[in-house]
Amino acid sequence: MQEPTPKVLVSEVAIRERVRELAHQISKDYESVESLTLVGVLRGAFIFLADLSRLLTIPRRVDFIALSSYESESTSAGAVRLIMDVRAPLEGEHVLVVEDIVDTGLTLDYLLRTLEARSPKSLKTCVLLEKPERLQVEVEIDYLGFTIPDKWVVGYGLDSGDRYRCLPYIGVVEPR
Ligand code: IMP
Repeated sequence: MQEPTPKVLVSEVAIRERVRELAHQISKDYESVESLTLVGVLRGAFIFLADLSRLLTIPRRVDFIALSSYESESTSAGAVRLIMDVRAPLEGEHVLVVEDIVDTGLTLDYLLRTLEARSPKSLKTCVLLEKPERLQVEVEIDYLGFTIPDKWVVGYGLDSGDRYRCLPYIGVVEPR
């Protein structure tokens, strides 16, 4: 059976424009630092990080971390696990976490506490999407792409049961 085509929530053009604006702002804010370490949260942030990092005009390094907070496609397991750590030590570094979406906030909260313990020089967050209706813990988002309603979204790196990650836009899969 063919997969249903997700309904567009944030278009490809709107994403491109917003990522450009975010990159411009981040480049400005960090223009005086020697180097910025971008920590992309796998797997959902891989496309966002790829686009954002290429638009920055400041010296930057890219690293990845993988966490798991969901057992299946749209249920929260509550507990967050570190699956893969960054490669480089973060002590004394300017760190910008690049995350796809803040839903309950539990993942980013856990990640920030984990990274803070490594004594970075600064620690900020850049998040493509947030769903404020679902928030359970307050997390500081320094750079935000879009605020969206409480719907399961896919595309531009985000998945539903590992499908739809490579869609060029953010879409909503209608319940069957
Ligand atoms: P949180 O811990 O509830 O904030 O969830 C964060 C993680 O859940 C994200 O990094 C995503 O991997 C996943 N997630 C939450 N909402 C969605 C969604 O609508 N689509 C795809 N993944 C989502």
